[in-house]
Amino acid sequence: MMIQLPGLTADFDLSPHNTFGLPAHASFGTFLEDEAQIPELLDTAASSALPVRVFGGGSNLVMRPRFEGIAVLMALRGRKIVGEESGGTLVEIAAGENWDEIVGWTVNQGLWGLENLSLIPGTVGAAPVQNIGAYGIELADRFNSLRAYDTVERRFVTFSAAECRFAYRQSLFKQVPGRYLITSVCLRLPQPWAPVLTYSGIDHLPSSAGAPEIRAQVIAVRQAKLPDWRVQGNVGSFFHNPIVPAGIADAIEGVPHYPQADGSVKLSAAWLIERAGFKGHRLGGAGVSERHALVLVNHGGATFEDVQQLSGLIRSGVHAQFGVTLVQEPETM
Ligand SMILES: Cc1cc2nc3c(=O)[nH]c(=O)nc-3n(C[C@H](O)[C@H](O)[C@H](O)COP(=O)(O)OP(=O)(O)OC[C@H]3O[C@@H](n4cnc5c(N)ncnc54)[C@H](O)[C@@H]3O)c2cc1C
Repeated sequence: MMIQLPGLTADFDLSPHNTFGLPAHASFGTFLEDEAQIPELLDTAASSALPVRVFGGGSNLVMRPRFEGIAVLMALRGRKIVGEESGGTLVEIAAGENWDEIVGWTVNQGLWGLENLSLIPGTVGAAPVQNIGAYGIELADRFNSLRAYDTVERRFVTFSAAECRFAYRQSLFKQVPGRYLITSVCLRLPQPWAPVLTYSGIDHLPSSAGAPEIRAQVIAVRQAKLPDWRVQGNVGSFFHNPIVPAGIADAIEGVPHYPQADGSVKLSAAWLIERAGFKGHRLGGAGVSERHALVLVNHGGATFEDVQQLSGLIRSGVHAQFGVTLVQEPETM
């Protein structure tokens, strides 16, 4: 007999809530529309001995067919300009707001600084989890603080940038999955603003370019380069760009590489995958995008197993050919 828990939907369908479009269900699920729901939700979880995990847009998740726990769909809404501080304007945004909508809104308000991060799918609350980044900017560059509910200590806490321990696609929140439920993020948009045009694809823009022009260009480049997850399910980059000792990078002829401050070198994972012969490769319903070798796609009917097998094949192929270990970017949940 199926158990019922008050206020929660049993056998909650997560298929429409992950951008890969993998079939998945949670034991229970609910939408979080008010912070006041949190304590009761955690009481229910404790009494039923089920873990709680927050879901945003599901754009950085590889879903197993079943999550034995309570899926909390982040639906907190709200945005406000908090005020000026030395070096910038503070803007506070609720965790359930759509990231790209917020980028568009700030740019239209004349509050510039997020434009390089245009068109990244997902919610504002998930942005600090992986310290989202693109076109030469990462969230940490525009971050002031965040508010979260600590599910262990059962109280709201505020995190500064240093406390979030941001690094390349990393933060404290990835190290303690499920502990903190981020409810809002406060961004600092720089005053004065200066464009960041160092990255390929936007480096041809004039230094006089404003944020609306940069946003339009970033959107155009992304739309041309990446498959649209609404048309062909995907989670963006499936692997991190590997950071390796300089000696390994030197031994791979022609690989695009980016020297790091500590002497190591970041390599293009897409180049390695393409050279290893996987671009366009298919396995079951899953495949490597024809457009971008770093993106695994759902050609229709892909299962978790298909994605796991394809990803394993790519990792071992790249390792055999180049001696480089690829690490998966999205979380398997
Ligand atoms: C086409 C495409 C392009 C992409 N491009 C980029 C890119 O350029 N740069 C980049 O960095 N990423 C990129 N991504 C990855 C993804 O969009 C980001 O990681 C995004 O921030 C995930 O947001 P989400 O709401 O979908 O999070 P989810 O996938 O729902 O969740 C991701 C993780 O965050 C946790 N989480 C979510 N919300 C909260 C919360 N409120 N509190 C605590 N934990 C939470 C979840 O439990 C999970 O562990 C791309 C993805 C796609 C599909």
